[in-house]
Amino acid sequence: MSRLRCGFPLGFIALVWGLLCAQVHAGVSAEAAGENTQNFALTAPLHTYAEVIDIDGAEDGSKRTGQAAVWHDTSGQADLSAALRALQAGDFRPLPGAGSTGMQKGSYWSFFVLHNSTDAPVPLHLEYVDHQLIRLQAFESPVRAAPDFAEVANLAMGESFAMRPVFHNRFVVPVELEPGASEAFLIRLDSEEAGFVFPSMRIWTPDALSQSHTAETAVLSFLFGGVTLISLFSLIVGLTTRESSFFAYFVYGLSKIAAWGTILGFTHQYLLRDGFHWSYMSAAGAVSILCGVIFDRLFLQTRKYTPRLDLVLILMMVNAAVLLGSALLQIKALALISITLALLLYPASTVIAIVRWRQGSSEAAVFAVGWTLLLAGLFFQALRDLGYVEHNLVNYYLPPLSSFIEMVTIMAAMGMKLRRLRLQGLESERQYRRHLEQSKVKLEGLVRARTEELEKAKQQAELEARTDPLTGIRNRRSFLADAGLCIKRAQRKGEPVSLLMFDIDHFKSINDNHGHGIGDEALRQFSVTIQQKIRETDVFGRLGGEEFALLITETRPDSLHTAERLRDNIAQIRLDCPVGSVQFTSSIGVAHATQDESVEQLLRQADHALYCAKERGRNMVVEYTAEPNASERGLPLSESQHVDMLSSLEPA
Ligand code: GH3
Ligand code: MG
Ligand code: MG
Repeated sequence: MSRLRCGFPLGFIALVWGLLCAQVHAGVSAEAAGENTQNFALTAPLHTYAEVIDIDGAEDGSKRTGQAAVWHDTSGQADLSAALRALQAGDFRPLPGAGSTGMQKGSYWSFFVLHNSTDAPVPLHLEYVDHQLIRLQAFESPVRAAPDFAEVANLAMGESFAMRPVFHNRFVVPVELEPGASEAFLIRLDSEEAGFVFPSMRIWTPDALSQSHTAETAVLSFLFGGVTLISLFSLIVGLTTRESSFFAYFVYGLSKIAAWGTILGFTHQYLLRDGFHWSYMSAAGAVSILCGVIFDRLFLQTRKYTPRLDLVLILMMVNAAVLLGSALLQIKALALISITLALLLYPASTVIAIVRWRQGSSEAAVFAVGWTLLLAGLFFQALRDLGYVEHNLVNYYLPPLSSFIEMVTIMAAMGMKLRRLRLQGLESERQYRRHLEQSKVKLEGLVRARTEELEKAKQQAELEARTDPLTGIRNRRSFLADAGLCIKRAQRKGEPVSLLMFDIDHFKSINDNHGHGIGDEALRQFSVTIQQKIRETDVFGRLGGEEFALLITETRPDSLHTAERLRDNIAQIRLDCPVGSVQFTSSIGVAHATQDESVEQLLRQADHALYCAKERGRNMVVEYTAEPNASERGLPLSESQHVDMLSSLEPA
């Protein structure tokens, strides 16, 4: 039978490999060891074949059965009589190396003699030092000329745990030495296919073993408890942060507990006490490798940052899945290939973590340290397994211990990652706020500018609506509105108001003789001239065509004077055109507000007076009067005439 150990998962992988190989010959070798009927007489006394180990009743595990007489049965088929023949033939020799047979096929037989030097019977527990061995058989005989070996223990991993004489996760053979008696032992340790065997067993008194086991259990409880706590903590952090790598780490932690519990024999001891099968170890280990690789990929973000190395991790995942499948279906050949591949690929995680560290991920550096510690633990145990270093409790527990340290270290790396994520979150929130603030300021500026634009456009539109485009003065509508207000104000204050209505004389002939452009210019010059001669408070506008109106708050005589003055100013206008300068005149109708006339009424009255001015020969000021017999009072063509007229018209 065989067993292999070089740590977890390396150790696990090797173990399963050994177990798989062992299954091939398990059936045969189970029946290989013979019965005590095959004993035969040896030519020399039994105690001469090996050193005699003195038992003083205070055995605390420090004493070993030794490796002075070890026989390697390469076939794995030898029975008790064959072993005795080998003993007689001198094939039992000291085992070179530091306690391990190294990786070998077949089974090993160990021979030793125990002598009770006390005067009381001494019960002893002979403990196999490792937790994984497929089968152990022990034969005992008193030391005498004709040996009479009888089987005192037959322990197998696949058998019900309840059948073990001592309740322990490792194989323990109980024996009892009579006072002063010497007993010879032949121990058969199965190693069918390639595997490691440690032929030297620890010697304990039952109490000492029990105490030691309690201490060991305490240490293991600490390790398992630690991993459990880390896993739960990871779950809580995952739930709060929604960061997937924490969930993966939680599952990875649980799978480690399951795998180590199984590999160290506790699953067999406490959970699956009947019919334990090697495939349980394979399945637990495969799940653990799978979870580990899934976690590696998420934590190191290999898909994003190292896509080519990520393929290696994907290969590891697929391989772990194949191992799981082949374990469950018990396809041994496929499982063997899969385990070998897993063994070769396992250090890839460290390499990838180093690459990620070089890319700038500081938590990947911590991850690499954790993984390297694990690999170091596996390496030192491999030295033990290969027989370079003697077995002790430190290198025995190095893989689960380094696995625990790896969990703690990676938890620290996770903490770093969490902190980085938090800082990143804060930074992006700060940037978002700043961006928002900038956008707000920009938007406010835009809104302000747009409002100003709209305001300007509105003012422009209002101005245009009020303004005559040709002359730039009020248009008819605006004139009516402003004049209306002005009249009301004046009426309220009791001020006099007069409305002057202008119509350029023979304007059509200006257009006809000099062109529309000169006509337009005449209209513009007319407006400019009037505007220059009136006050700001006066209301002036173009009613349409060549007709204009002016509302002034002046007394009747003053308004007539103003009208006359304006008529004269208009007559002074000279327009330059190709044929020389052009002059024109304007007729003016004047109406005075006597009671509370509206602007429309005043306009009608002024228009009436204007009509009279045209009738009477143009270029004159005519005043509207309400007297029924004498219609409007006109002013003559020339200024002198006009002044005379005015004076004649002046009421007494
Ligand atoms: P009257 O002395 O009787 O007022 O004769 P008139 O020729 O001035 O009067 P009429 O009503 O016959 O002609 C007014 C002309 O004014 C007709 C029209 O072509 C011209 N007119 C109206 N608006 C404009 C304008 O904006 N620009 C120019 N150039 N001519 C205009
Ligand atoms: Mg006209
Ligand atoms: Mg006219």
